[in-house]
Amino acid sequence: MFDDLRDLYQEVILDHGRKPRNFRRLEDADRTARGDNPMCGDRMELFLKLREDGGIEDVAFQGRGCAISMASASLMTETVKGKQPAEAQALGEQFRSLAMTGTCAECGASLADEMERLQPLSGVHEFPSRVKCATLAWHTLNAALDGSGKEATSE
Ligand code: ZN
Repeated sequence: MFDDLRDLYQEVILDHGRKPRNFRRLEDADRTARGDNPMCGDRMELFLKLREDGGIEDVAFQGRGCAISMASASLMTETVKGKQPAEAQALGEQFRSLAMTGTCAECGASLADEMERLQPLSGVHEFPSRVKCATLAWHTLNAALDGSGKEATSE
């Protein structure tokens, strides 16, 4: 990877890690879920507000954890707001591939802009122990969309 790009990615992660977007409680949330990554100590609670057509009207989270977990949750909320649950879940699958391998061979062109936004986290694939930090927010999102009420662990 070019050094300039690496620096830019690092800057995005630090910025989102220090000042996570949508870091608040949604008092009128339709769905909530908790996520836990015991390997690192990252914990979060996710709040979803759904539109009448099922789309994600608003999404927010609270919690504490390492910079990667907070930055990933912040970027996730920005990326899935306004999406239908199926699109959000497809993005989660693609992000998992990106985090584990550094690329996303199966990524469709339809969600290319969204995946572009998540690129700064692609570097975690070089640090296998941090992959779970990056994917925790997406596991928690799936748990909230499923409405299972179960705690999501980052597996
Ligand atoms: Zn972590």
